[in-house]
Amino acid sequence: MTDANAFDIIIVGTGPAGLTAALYGQRLGMNCVVFGDVPGGNLYMVENLANFPGFPGGVPGTEWGVKTFQQAQMEGGLFTMSRLESLEKNGDGFAGTDVNGISYSASCAIVATGRVPIKLPGPHSDAKGVNFCSVCDGPLFRGKDATLAVVGSDNAAAQHALTLSLIAHKVVLIYRSRELMMDAVHQERIAARDNIDLMPETEVTGYVGLDLVEGLEIAVPSGGTETLPVDGVFLAIGWSPNTEMIKLPVETIDGGYLRTDEKLMTSIPGMFAAGDVRDTDLYQVLTGCADGARCVLNAAEFIKRSQG
Ligand SMILES: Cc1cc2nc3c(=O)[nH]c(=O)nc-3n(C[C@H](O)[C@H](O)[C@H](O)COP(=O)(O)OP(=O)(O)OC[C@H]3O[C@@H](n4cnc5c(N)ncnc54)[C@H](O)[C@@H]3O)c2cc1C
Repeated sequence: MTDANAFDIIIVGTGPAGLTAALYGQRLGMNCVVFGDVPGGNLYMVENLANFPGFPGGVPGTEWGVKTFQQAQMEGGLFTMSRLESLEKNGDGFAGTDVNGISYSASCAIVATGRVPIKLPGPHSDAKGVNFCSVCDGPLFRGKDATLAVVGSDNAAAQHALTLSLIAHKVVLIYRSRELMMDAVHQERIAARDNIDLMPETEVTGYVGLDLVEGLEIAVPSGGTETLPVDGVFLAIGWSPNTEMIKLPVETIDGGYLRTDEKLMTSIPGMFAAGDVRDTDLYQVLTGCADGARCVLNAAEFIKRSQG
């Protein structure tokens, strides 16, 4: 490894948390290397980011992501735009190797890798017609008089249903709970769309169709199962944090989220976690940004302390 690849902080992830960490880190005088893929992370799935302060009427998620990426880049640092394959200990610090096999070292690491949507278990979970991003894949159904299912009841499910209701003939929102788990503002908007049907207390038990989804097998409240013909399905049934590249015995909580202390440090000294990948109580852009800023400040203090 050459000195050119030695940094103060390795930042993994270019979502709101990682980009804010990079922005604050460089401005603090820390030399950062940033690994990532999509500028803005999961914001590519957010049609309109309506609750981030400073944008009356909202801002498209992709626009926010690209502008924040540009803002962070302008402060310097190295943006590899490659995914990190492994993060390990390297003496007192850390070593990271990316998908191109290039290795980097740093005194601290900030994991801001977010989380990915969970698939339904069982066969055909990768079939055509099973989707996770309504903004990206919803337009495939435009002009097709489609009936689309959204599975889930949280804010992400709400956004899928609202986006798809502009494209599809009908949207069916299927969820296991009796009540919707989304914000009241989303519930009101959904109630106002006459092409969104609600199916509470209903569980999807399987897909109908082989390579292409043609319907869903559902367990209905009255007991028994039915087949619901649909042209496509959008899942928002849960999340799984992206931690597989951490090759260290780090503590996690239920569901695999990284456990952090009040300084946002994980159980590995010098390794911090920001945003949706950690044990947060609010999975939002605002909290991800705040975590990113706090992580970098705490990492800078950690480096100063360890240098005596
Ligand atoms: C449909 C939908 C609607 C939403 N609506 C809102 C909303 O209205 N308001 C709001 O505040 N929030 C909303 N959210 C939530 C918001 O998008 C997240 O809370 C936020 O993006 C979390 O930021 P993050 O930086 O922690 O993670 P992410 O945005 O997930 O970014 C993490 C990035 O790290 C990358 N990564 C993972 N592993 C690696 C690796 N090994 N190497 C390099 N990179 C890696 C990931 O691919 C990803 O690009 C919504 C989410 C969805 C899905």
